[in-house]
Amino acid sequence: MRFPLKLTANLTKYIVGKRLRGAQKFPLVMMLEPLHACNLTCTGCGRIREYKSTINEMLTVEQCLAALDDCGAPVVSICGGEPMIYPEIGRLTREILARGRHIYLCTNGMFIRKKLHEFHPTSSFFWNVHLDGLERTHDLCVEKDGVFREAIEGIKAAKAAGFLVSSNTTIYKETDLEEIAELYAYLHSLGVDGFMLSPAYSYSAVQTRDIFMSREEIREKFHQASQLLGKFNLMVSNIYLEYLRGERELPCTVWGSPTYNPRGWKSPCYAMTDAHYATFKEFIEKTPWENYGPGRDPRCEDCMMHVGFELSAVLGANRKLGDNWKMLTWQLSGKMGGAGSRKLTNGRGNGHSNGDGQGNHDGNGSASARPASASSQEVVRPDGSLRVW
Ligand code: SF4
Repeated sequence: MRFPLKLTANLTKYIVGKRLRGAQKFPLVMMLEPLHACNLTCTGCGRIREYKSTINEMLTVEQCLAALDDCGAPVVSICGGEPMIYPEIGRLTREILARGRHIYLCTNGMFIRKKLHEFHPTSSFFWNVHLDGLERTHDLCVEKDGVFREAIEGIKAAKAAGFLVSSNTTIYKETDLEEIAELYAYLHSLGVDGFMLSPAYSYSAVQTRDIFMSREEIREKFHQASQLLGKFNLMVSNIYLEYLRGERELPCTVWGSPTYNPRGWKSPCYAMTDAHYATFKEFIEKTPWENYGPGRDPRCEDCMMHVGFELSAVLGANRKLGDNWKMLTWQLSGKMGGAGSRKLTNGRGNGHSNGDGQGNHDGNGSASARPASASSQEVVRPDGSLRVW
């Protein structure tokens, strides 16, 4: 399975229920930004620049939960800023899981080891670690040495403790896809469960304009990406990949991934800001959706980001004959767990089992930080190249 069975089943049930009730626009993945502060200053990040004046503001856990209840999305992507510097990240996560939601905690990985004891492994929770290349490249992208190594140590600790881990890679104009293939092979050896990737969005707040791609360049890049990376457990759908390769069109369905942050519901989307609304109802009803998307707003022209178009595939927008079958076989043909995965051992009935059954979770969510499989060797050399083993 490409994703945990429970996640797929809950999402399917939710979408069918919404469709039967005649809902037109409904959220699937809530992008929750409890704060915008970050310990890094990544080159391509729009957040720390756009929200510079409110960088010290943060939501309370209660505000986060009220917003979640307000929109009702079954999946929550906790992002930011760096969510691991949110003081109550452990409690926030537990409260969301207690509401039966699924979480992707999007992090730069710098504080996983430090805070791992605040979390418990379950198939409803993924550490989603941002990595844009091997050591040298990644540290350059995040403008700080040592980030790659610490993120890798965090991944090893999380896998050793029985957590699900995915990686998230932003593809820029200069991204070397051969290097990303090496990165994925390495992460696979550590037991990483899945790989997300998306073309970068050209944030107006980011001054380094020449790192972003045009629509044509994205298509070329993702042709190559499909060839080099298709053998890994990609957590982007094959229909979205067809769109990225220019083989089909999809509409922007960004209302499916609403963003909530200390200023409210961000309209229209994660990448662009024209307004903030206090309630989800206002956000859905007052955003002029017909004005957004490629061909409608110049700022959307080169956008092919996953938040805008990945859900279009899941929601069946521009459906073609055979798409349902394609989505089903895509889910069934995936395999989480990489080469060094361990079973979840928390006994919470998760439908996910892909490891060697030797998980060393100690019963209270803490990690012994024993590395998984290949991690006993140092596999990345100081110059960023991989040792072959
Ligand atoms: S196409 Fe959609 S997701 Fe992309 S910038 Fe425009 S509104 Fe946002």
